[in-house]
Amino acid sequence: MAKTLVFLEHHEDAVQKGALGVLAKFANADGVLVGSGVRSIAESIGRTVWVADDERLAAPLPQPRVDVLAKLVRDEGYDTVLFAQSVLAADVAAGLAARLEAGLNWGLVDFDGEQGRAPALQDTVVVDVGWSSDVRIGVFRAGALDAGDVAGSGEVRDAAVELEDFSSAAEMVEQAHAEQQGPSIEDADVIVAGGRGLGEPEKFALAEELAKALGGAVAATRAVVDAGWYPYSAQVGQTGKTVSPKLYVALGISGAIQHKVGMQGSNTIVAINKDPNAPIFEFADLGVVGDLHEIVPKLTELVRSRKS
Ligand SMILES: Cc1cc2nc3c(=O)[nH]c(=O)nc-3n(C[C@H](O)[C@H](O)[C@H](O)COP(=O)(O)OP(=O)(O)OC[C@H]3O[C@@H](n4cnc5c(N)ncnc54)[C@H](O)[C@@H]3O)c2cc1C
Repeated sequence: MAKTLVFLEHHEDAVQKGALGVLAKFANADGVLVGSGVRSIAESIGRTVWVADDERLAAPLPQPRVDVLAKLVRDEGYDTVLFAQSVLAADVAAGLAARLEAGLNWGLVDFDGEQGRAPALQDTVVVDVGWSSDVRIGVFRAGALDAGDVAGSGEVRDAAVELEDFSSAAEMVEQAHAEQQGPSIEDADVIVAGGRGLGEPEKFALAEELAKALGGAVAATRAVVDAGWYPYSAQVGQTGKTVSPKLYVALGISGAIQHKVGMQGSNTIVAINKDPNAPIFEFADLGVVGDLHEIVPKLTELVRSRKS
């Protein structure tokens, strides 16, 4: 039976949804929380959680986290370390793989304790992936697992914090938070995504209004992000984020393969496009052929009136 450790990335006082999803999937896995003032977060999780709580770990820098995880793996004999994909997780996982000379599999959607499963060839197939190293490191694809129930039993244990000199050489100079209202696209149950069919950047207000009415978040295609209509953090697709909400409403999006791979895991896809031959209609669950500028304001009104 694999002895599994899950990296619990946190933001302020909460563990990231993706990391909780990984912990929820593996009932026997332990968690590890690294930061400053994080003990109370660990206590709120009903599992055995290692806590490395130290002022030097306050900034979300990868190398000090690699130090903590590498020592835990060696001292406690963990043979599997799992992450939920994020910028920080990617750095920590890669650093840990180098430090432990361990294999690293990326973009996992499943793992049975021995073998993993991951999409390949632009998500056209799902393949088995394995490890030949003693320690297996895996990074789950964003949105691959539901947050689920992590309840179990366990205790909070202190992890030793012994930092290498080179790990402390980098310093976080500044950290800025993007202002955002409502849920992030990774966490949202409903996403309203806008494409070039919106016509101009100001028309993203249509997507924002509909998202607000539905309690969802706004996403975008690369075409509009590249054009500067919407921030990169909202881009869905091959070179953006992978999302899997319950409902994905695509406004003026053609449905290029590079966009599709980032949102095809959505439960229900609704597309509004004036071109009946747009590729998105090939994989949408519900398609509306028409001018979004006429349809979306009415749809938003309808959602609002139904809610009230
Ligand atoms: C290496 C690589 C990586 C890429 N990565 C990504 C990625 O991560 N994410 C991504 O999204 N793309 C990515 N792309 C780009 C991708 O190929 C497409 O160009 C892009 O997704 C198209 O965006 P779009 O649907 O907004 O625009 P378009 O393809 O121009 O589609 C606009 C759609 O709006 C419809 N429309 C126009 N007016 C209206 C109206 N009034 N009412 C209703 N519908 C209307 C049109 O019929 C059309 O279907 C990548 C491309 C490459 C080569």
